[in-house]
Amino acid sequence: MNVIVDLDTCIGCGRCEEICPAVFHLDEATGKSVVIDSEACEFVGCCEAAEENCPVEAISLEE
Ligand code: SF4
Repeated sequence: MNVIVDLDTCIGCGRCEEICPAVFHLDEATGKSVVIDSEACEFVGCCEAAEENCPVEAISLEE
């Protein structure tokens, strides 16, 4: 699965990292979320929840 964070939209709330820390990390320098391991989505099963809970819909999942 390919995971994309729209950096123009991300407000750096950190919710995706809280929900799915194996895949998302809040970069302290930019204040935005970065995808650290999109392949992990298949194993950890939390990418959909992160996408659904992003308050600004900045996360896209592509099969
Ligand atoms: S949940 Fe959305 S807005 Fe919040 S840090 Fe993650 S991608 Fe950015």
